[in-house]
Amino acid sequence: MPFGIVHYNDSRLRQKGAPVERFDDALRQLAGGMIETMRAHNGIGLAAQQVGLARQVAVIDIRPARFEGDWRLDGARPPLELFMPLTLVNPSVQILDGDDFIYEEGCLSFPDIRGDVTRPDRVRVDYRDLDGTPHTLICDDLLARCVQHEVDHLNGVLFIDRMDKKTRRALDRALKGLAAATKASAGGKTA
Ligand SMILES: [Zn+2]
Repeated sequence: MPFGIVHYNDSRLRQKGAPVERFDDALRQLAGGMIETMRAHNGIGLAAQQVGLARQVAVIDIRPARFEGDWRLDGARPPLELFMPLTLVNPSVQILDGDDFIYEEGCLSFPDIRGDVTRPDRVRVDYRDLDGTPHTLICDDLLARCVQHEVDHLNGVLFIDRMDKKTRRALDRALKGLAAATKASAGGKTA
């Protein structure tokens, strides 16, 4: 079942995710629901905070995007079909050598809001899969960007925090409007 998506400026988006300790059915159900939610909204990534849970779990499926970069998963280069959708549990990102690049990012927690974000082009992410098995993914281009965007979410960091002042300022009015709408819809609920 897909989840509802938490929008800016819900405080849950600012919570740092707790590490996953049990690789059980509940975790599999969470990841499955997140993948469904991501697909329902045509996203390429989703973090647990975006469905209201502060856990170190993110899902990625780069296939709907035009990704022409490279990757190494545990030292090999399996077809994307073999490891997408990808669930990252307890991930940690390390920036590798390479140039930064600018790209106009969006986020499912910020409907209709997009803006340029500069990020490193190449990263290494160490993570566990749903069985708790450790993996290392080295990637660049849009996949590296997606990994960084999602792992930021797991630490309570949002893409607007990564924008330069001018880009951020241009979105100010839209962000205030979204925050007000989010607050108004939360006011109608008791929880
Ligand atoms: Zn996002």
